[in-house]
Amino acid sequence: MRIGHGYDAHRFASGRPLVLGGVTIPHGEGLAAHSDGDVVVHALCDALLGAAALGDIGKLFPDSSEEYRNIDSRILLREVVERLTDAALRVSSVDISMVAQRPRLASHIADMVEILSSDLELASDRLNVKATTTEGMGFTGRGEGIAVHAVVLLEE
Ligand code: MG
Repeated sequence: MRIGHGYDAHRFASGRPLVLGGVTIPHGEGLAAHSDGDVVVHALCDALLGAAALGDIGKLFPDSSEEYRNIDSRILLREVVERLTDAALRVSSVDISMVAQRPRLASHIADMVEILSSDLELASDRLNVKATTTEGMGFTGRGEGIAVHAVVLLEE
């Protein structure tokens, strides 16, 4: 077994869609990023790459590259899964924690689980997504952005 942890945070920006875990969530603003800003998928990719000792998402998909401008982060996720397959590694378990004061995310979690487990080719009962606030503390509490932690297990 191999364990990996991923963390990412993005700040809110106007004029962009809010995409989390592949789900477009109705909200007044999205997240600033070179890609579509899907901070859930970014943290997940980093956890997967960490467990596989393959570096990180910024190394694989540099934000200096025009190729990745506004890219659907699920494309990056599926590419990471391919790298794992090439390395004879299989995803066994995923746990994701989203930290956001707003918007409310609970009603979107089932859709995120369906999308992410499909991209990972993983049974949906092996993938968990949860959301918490920080009770108004810190940058997420002030509504400046969203942070996500992801932990994964891979099997060789
Ligand atoms: Mg990111």
